[in-house]
Parts: sequence; C-alpha cells; structure tokens
Amino acid sequence: MAKKKKIVIDQDKCIGCNTCPLIDPDTFELDQSDYKAKVKRQPEEIEEIHQTAVDSCPVGAISIVEVEE
Ligand code: SF4
Repeated sequence: MAKKKKIVIDQDKCIGCNTCPLIDPDTFELDQSDYKAKVKRQPEEIEEIHQTAVDSCPVGAISIVEVEE
C-alpha cells in the first residue's frame, strides 16, 4: 500500500502562538474559537516550508507522519 506524508497538529500541545499560519497560511490556520492551529489544507507534497513550520513551533506540536493511503 502506498504511503503518504501528512501534517498533524497536537491540539493539546498547541499554545496558539500563530507562528505556523504566518509561515504557511495555505496549510495552517488559527481556529478563532479555541485559538489552536488546525491544518487548513493538507499539502500534496511535504516541502521545506512545512518542515520550517515543524521546526519553528515553540512547543513541538506539529509533526509530519506517514499514513497508508
Ligand atoms: S506554531 Fe505550534 S504552538 Fe504556534 S500556533 Fe502553530 S502549532 Fe500552535
């Protein structure tokens, strides 16, 4: 089965700092109801900008995981 990479945000860890939506507003958004980041749209391919968001999150809430399609 094919594997695909996916971005996951740990809602318990996210402190709503708004860094990830600033880095990549196409992929991340801050939910105004609970001030937690959500994945707005899963990217087709994981690119450097997504890794930058992972590395920039102050609480390590963003992960790139492999899922089976
Ligand atoms: S960078 Fe991390 S803590 Fe900040 S909004 Fe994004 S997921 Fe939440």
